[in-house]
Amino acid sequence: MFNALVVDKEEQGNTSAEVRQIGLDDLPDGDVTVAVEYSTVNYKDGLCIGPGGGLVRNYPHVPGIDFAGTVEASDDDRYKPGDKVVLTGWRVGEAHWGGYSQKACVKADWLVPLPKGLDTRQAMAVGTAGFTAMLAVMALEDHGIKDGPVLVTGAAGGVGSVATAILASLGHEVAGVTGRPETADYLTSLGASQIVAREEINETTKRPLEAETWGGCVDAVGGAMLARVLGQVKYGGSVAAVGLAGGAGLPATVIPFLLRGVNLLGIDSVMQPYDNRLRAWERIAKDLPMDKLEAMVQPATLSDLPKLGADILKGQVKGRVVVDVNA
Ligand code: NDP
Repeated sequence: MFNALVVDKEEQGNTSAEVRQIGLDDLPDGDVTVAVEYSTVNYKDGLCIGPGGGLVRNYPHVPGIDFAGTVEASDDDRYKPGDKVVLTGWRVGEAHWGGYSQKACVKADWLVPLPKGLDTRQAMAVGTAGFTAMLAVMALEDHGIKDGPVLVTGAAGGVGSVATAILASLGHEVAGVTGRPETADYLTSLGASQIVAREEINETTKRPLEAETWGGCVDAVGGAMLARVLGQVKYGGSVAAVGLAGGAGLPATVIPFLLRGVNLLGIDSVMQPYDNRLRAWERIAKDLPMDKLEAMVQPATLSDLPKLGADILKGQVKGRVVVDVNA
């Protein structure tokens, strides 16, 4: 038997979340059993720990959309006991039991080998949020980052923190948008050279185009902020849209696309093919300074998760929460 955070449905649509002992026979089918070492807290985990928002299909459920650990048993030739592996995406932690458990059973296709240069804790300090930040940076690079500061919205959150550190280490000037002025020193330590107050970009304007300011943008917020940024990106520049922490609507016009050739690049970390996942993890190991990664980490245990899940939905988590499932 081993520990897992089990979420169950209660009367009137409420959910309960508690650490329980479960067994290997309880785990869903898969080709690889992993002794999980670390998982993390992402925005989606907050949703899955709570009432689910349609993400969780069947209860009881073990959330945790990512994990890193050691292969314990494998029916697939690509993995053998003792191999270190990382998992992000593929609806694990939503439609399939995830990483908030000391053991997980998953399809071999969903795993990647732990990249050289990262241990399992570092891999989860990066986690889904950081992996997505790297995908966003790679998408901006593919379309060409223009001169001038690169804007990162939701900068003090998980995606924003890792995007800030990667862009700065690649030599870009980074402007971080935050609604929490007290995180300014933290963002500066990650490499941001400019802090922009959330209200400055959230204010609505009737002007579809403003001064060409940003060489590109990683946007974790969406909504009114994304709409405003589209009119501020330099000619031919790109915005990598990652998230919707500030809303799913997009009150924008087509003018930035027509008159400035702005590219809006959608980033999806969930269904990334194996080669893309491997490439992104290798870039993370190469381009993300580990001392900066360490500065983002807040440690947690399985029993901390119900509170942390609620906190991340309120935008109150700074950086990355790393869950030691064996603590
Ligand atoms: P976090 O909660 O860690 O960060 C989000 C940040 O957005 C907050 O820290 C806050 O930053 C800012 N924010 C929150 N609410 C608002 C608001 N109402 N208006 C403006 N800014 C706000 O989440 P993550 O970084 O893990 O994820 C960010 C988004 O990206 C989420 O929507 C998530 O679902 C999505 N995501 C998408 C992925 C994909 O594959 N496309 C993968 C991973 C995440 P600050 O305090 O600095 O203002």
